[in-house]
Amino acid sequence: MTQTASILDGKATALAVRETVAAKVATLVAAGVHPGLRVVLVGDDPASEVYVRNKDRAATQAGIDVATIKLPANTSQADLLAEVERLNEDPAVSGILVQLPLPKGLDEAQVVCAIAPEKDVDGLHPANVAALVLGTPGLVSCTPAGCIELLDRSGIDLAGKHVVIVGRSQLVGKPLAQLALARNATVTICHSRTQNLAEHVGRADVIAAAVGVAKLIQGDWVKPGAVVLDVGINRGEDGKLVGDVDFEGASKNASAITPVPGGIGPMTIAMLLSNTVLAAARQAGKAHLIED
Ligand code: NDP
Repeated sequence: MTQTASILDGKATALAVRETVAAKVATLVAAGVHPGLRVVLVGDDPASEVYVRNKDRAATQAGIDVATIKLPANTSQADLLAEVERLNEDPAVSGILVQLPLPKGLDEAQVVCAIAPEKDVDGLHPANVAALVLGTPGLVSCTPAGCIELLDRSGIDLAGKHVVIVGRSQLVGKPLAQLALARNATVTICHSRTQNLAEHVGRADVIAAAVGVAKLIQGDWVKPGAVVLDVGINRGEDGKLVGDVDFEGASKNASAITPVPGGIGPMTIAMLLSNTVLAAARQAGKAHLIED
């Protein structure tokens, strides 16, 4: 029998999250708190420009005071750090996002560490990474947070499930593993040195692919009934976007699957807005106003 997976519609779910965020912004504004987001874009990488434009538009729609600070590709490390420091000090700024990757020659880790942790809406500062591991309040990296939010809003519970994550980046794989653990999943993390990847993937109740290799995860690796989260964004030979999972093949086995585009990507932006509002509320001592 051929199963056809249901689609985990990240686009529609992200819209729902953004509506919730907009309502929280309205509540905060009524209490005199105006969430502000500053996106720092260094250089003119076309993909980054598209991402930044989408973030800017979504934040504006949610009522967040957003601005993109564009710096030339030859910006020095010192000047970039000075800009971050200026934003740290600005009380109108609740969230700071430095769009990665930075042009060659700039030290990303140093820049991320320079962002005030309470304004680090990308959740990459070591203090926020530690908070995630320790289970204390912090700001969680947007893409893994988006994966969990999509599962939550789709009624998929991770407790007791075997979650297999392919990819161990600081941005996606590692924080997603922590979030899944916190939801009482049993977690396996695979990477480029993993042997017998297909066997690991085949044991998963939930597969999360965050690799950056088009269609690496083959459809027949997917256990019947598994849930598939495809984080990957790759440009296919025909110029179209494809994920890390063979969508057609996997859809025959999976019970639910995210498309690319329209899956985790929109959720990532929604969680950025959610983090910005949370950061603004906490900084004003008014987090209780927006608690779910
Ligand atoms: P990284 O390049 O930082 O990490 C890729 C990971 O995949 C590494 O851990 C690497 O292993 C592993 N890997 C590479 N090749 C293989 C292989 N053949 N088999 C198994 N594992 C492999 O990428 P990111 O985590 O930043 O991003 C991953 C993908 O997700 C990209 O396509 C990116 O564009 C996309 N992305 C999408 C977002 C969204 O909003 N939807 C947001 C962020 C990223 P090792 O550690 O051993 O090198």
